[in-house]
Amino acid sequence: MDLADLQRTIAATYGAQDRARGVDGTFAWFVEEVGELSRAIRREGHDERVEEFSDVLAWLVTLADLTGVDLAEAAKRYEHGCPKCAASPCRCAHADPTRP
Ligand SMILES: [Zn+2]
Repeated sequence: MDLADLQRTIAATYGAQDRARGVDGTFAWFVEEVGELSRAIRREGHDERVEEFSDVLAWLVTLADLTGVDLAEAAKRYEHGCPKCAASPCRCAHADPTRP
């Protein structure tokens, strides 16, 4: 499944309720799921991490859909590596030193 497929599936599955909830309410759910992902990364096992990554991804996809963003288009920014220097690995002098 690619990002476009996922976005279509999420929209078909949850689109009506997502539109009823709106962007602000949906963003709050996204942040809640990011918190759960943080806990899963620090304290839980692989299966729980997979579940929380999938939930964060689904809410991110929902937000993209609600705001008219095509996630496949967004992902293209990274298709050749770093969107700033176009290198992989990134060669930006200002690259975040905490990134691996
Ligand atoms: Zn770079």
